[in-house]
Amino acid sequence: MLGTGIIKGMAQTAKNFAESFRDPKYLTTVQYPEQRIPTKENNRNFPFLVHDGDNPIEGLRCVACHICEKECPPQCIYIEKDKTKKPDHVGKLQFQPLVFDIDISVCMSCQICVEVCPFDAIKMDTDFELSQTDRFAGLLVDKHQLAKSNDYYRKIHPTEAKAIDANRAAEVKKAKAKAAAKAKADAEKAKGAEVAATAQPEPTNSNPSA
Ligand code: SF4
Ligand code: SF4
Repeated sequence: MLGTGIIKGMAQTAKNFAESFRDPKYLTTVQYPEQRIPTKENNRNFPFLVHDGDNPIEGLRCVACHICEKECPPQCIYIEKDKTKKPDHVGKLQFQPLVFDIDISVCMSCQICVEVCPFDAIKMDTDFELSQTDRFAGLLVDKHQLAKSNDYYRKIHPTEAKAIDANRAAEVKKAKAKAAAKAKADAEKAKGAEVAATAQPEPTNSNPSA
């Protein structure tokens, strides 16, 4: 029957209102901002850049590959790649973004930038208290404002962050095993060349009259 949904909704609202005098669990709203409901893990608002270690800029995982910038539907990401490689949080040289801006007045929270990033360098934040009096410059956020630690990411999206930490640890382990195997192969090759050089017979004098 037309309007059944509305009647059911009104009945639920009336029930919650009446029961809330008896049991606070029926209170479906809180006195914001004094009271806050914890954000849900799958909540998302605007993106942020993940950094490892203590330095928010040196530790950025972003290597300024521009993939997210190209894929962002409303084109609200602007990146300039640094001209030289700089050490990351473990001292490994990598390219980093000299400029990384997101215009959050344009961002539509679609998460495409997160999905296309091959380095798990950009993730969706849950922070929503971003009102500004300046709707132009105030909503253009740079890499200093975007950089947030992996610990923060673990706090807001624990399940997702745990899976990514495990993947990254497995990749590091694989890379170390590969590097160790290569170093071993190189050492064996060098040893083989050394043995071959020492086993080489001394050149003999072929001229009997000499
Ligand atoms: S969430 Fe979507 S709109 Fe916002 S920066 Fe990422 S790709 Fe662009
Ligand atoms: S956030 Fe990811 S996809 Fe975007 S530029 Fe950085 S590394 Fe590339």
